[in-house]
Amino acid sequence: MQKDHLQLLKQQIEAAKHITIISHYNPDGDAVGSSLALYLYLKSIQKSVAVILPNDFPPYFNWLSHSEEIILFNSKQPEAIAAIEKCDTLFLLDFNKLHRVETMYSAIQNKEAFKVMIDHHQEPDTFPEFMYHDVKASSTCELVFEIINELTPGGLKNKDIAACIYTGIMTDTGNFKFNSVTPHTHRILAQLLETGISPHTINSNVHDSFSENRLKLLGFSISEKLTVLPNFATAYIWLTKKELLSYQVQKGDTEGIVNYPFSIKGILFCALFTEADGIIKMSFRSKGVFDVNQFSKQHFNGGGHINAAGGKDFSTNILQVVERFVNLLPEYKNNIINSNSKLT
Ligand code: 5GP
Ligand code: MN
Repeated sequence: MQKDHLQLLKQQIEAAKHITIISHYNPDGDAVGSSLALYLYLKSIQKSVAVILPNDFPPYFNWLSHSEEIILFNSKQPEAIAAIEKCDTLFLLDFNKLHRVETMYSAIQNKEAFKVMIDHHQEPDTFPEFMYHDVKASSTCELVFEIINELTPGGLKNKDIAACIYTGIMTDTGNFKFNSVTPHTHRILAQLLETGISPHTINSNVHDSFSENRLKLLGFSISEKLTVLPNFATAYIWLTKKELLSYQVQKGDTEGIVNYPFSIKGILFCALFTEADGIIKMSFRSKGVFDVNQFSKQHFNGGGHINAAGGKDFSTNILQVVERFVNLLPEYKNNIINSNSKLT
């Protein structure tokens, strides 16, 4: 982490002629919120700036100011490539490894520019010229707040930017309840609220926007597809492509399902398996010190944070993947269960 070097970043921004901001594939609230917040800030200081996301984001972030100006690589490739080619400064937000941009990888891989990584995932690549990285940060939005607040005379006062940042912190902390939340996070939240944003409205925009099908998919996942293994303090849900299709699943509809089994007393490790074309996607969540970043890295081609990680498997049989997961549990039982003693 190089928090002392913000003056260097300031000079780079001042000198930059064209800036492009990118974030990870399947962008979540932190990816969209941090990218847009930085975009709006750079626009406000009259910089030429573009924001590109590899693919679409969930519709419940559409209300964020200027979200319609985000260039989606999967649908507007020529425009996105032009913005990448043009820029001399490239911001990489909310991801630690370049491959996380997936379909955008070849467009970025050999790009020569001053690269700035702002991120909070474990074990970041170190290729960027400037790193603003903190695994202890609740979210990338928290880090973007620190940067904008530092670089703005008088501190951040813009409501649109504040709403983006609030959204990213809210979604990446599971509504301010993960143990990544610190007094510092709450001090930032307080400053965001002082701009006049409405936490109620933001919460409602993001969370009270389910389709009937999404709510029914959640019900089905819990009532029909949940397996609880009390001996391993573990619970998991798996959803086939057919099941997802039968609920006409839309982008973002499976978001959050993985966390529901934590409401069962004693559960410390949750997993969600979803089947798509040629890929089984996984979400892992833990409570305490059981490191799902390492678990996913070692067994499921993924990573993320200690308590939240994603993974993938290219096998065509979801049941085999679930079985492989279940067979790993005895090896990790002590880690999972001991993690309980570290909960405060
Ligand atoms: P999710 O389960 O919501 O997809 O991901 C949980 C967290 O892990 C998010 O912060 C996400 O950005 C990160 N993540 C998901 N998949 C991967 C992956 O394949 N590699 C790495 N390094 N991080 C991931
Ligand atoms: Mn994040």
